Amino acid sequence: MTIIHHLDDATILSYAAGTLGEALSVAAACHISMCPECRTAVSKAEALGGEILDDLQSTAVSDVLRASTLASLDDKIVPKPVTAKSDMPAPLQRLLAGQGFAQLRWRKKAPGVSVYELPLSKNAKGSLKLLSIASGMSMLEHGHGGEELTLVLQGAFKDKVGRFARGDIADLDEDTEHCPIIEEGETCICLYATEAPSHFKTFLGRLLQPFLGI
Ligand SMILES: [Zn+2]
Repeated sequence: MTIIHHLDDATILSYAAGTLGEALSVAAACHISMCPECRTAVSKAEALGGEILDDLQSTAVSDVLRASTLASLDDKIVPKPVTAKSDMPAPLQRLLAGQGFAQLRWRKKAPGVSVYELPLSKNAKGSLKLLSIASGMSMLEHGHGGEELTLVLQGAFKDKVGRFARGDIADLDEDTEHCPIIEEGETCICLYATEAPSHFKTFLGRLLQPFLGI
């Protein structure tokens, strides 16, 4: 597996600082678990964050604040490298309780397009879904209205940005418009995370508009 498309610097910094939302954090953690390059970048960002904190003048804080701050550090998702047992990223494996893609109860949205919604904690914003799109399909050109991450887990798609295969993550900025085409041969399964719930509807709406190539 050669990963070509990575998380951008802003996402790495937010992830390391723990300010990325839950859905995006899971997608980022899944990519990081597959990608030594981004793991190194996160470690560097964390070290940088530590240095900045060291430079700040210390202020006395209450024991309660200190305890809750230290406790919150433990809550952060720490991705582990993929184990040899399964090629599914470890953070996703945990969310799916060890089930494989074939065992999931996919909801069919259109011919060749199925969705599986992943659980997030109660107050989390946005959504986290697995998308399964048949090979050879193409999506209409669409833009990206907010923060979203798309991680390829199986198969591949191509767009004007390049080819996205297993392990590649599309961390596109808002003005990127693209028209992905799923490669022939294998169903493409992606992990799709977004902060804005309504945005997915828009994306899905566009996704479900008449496809080219079917
Ligand atoms: Zn990477």
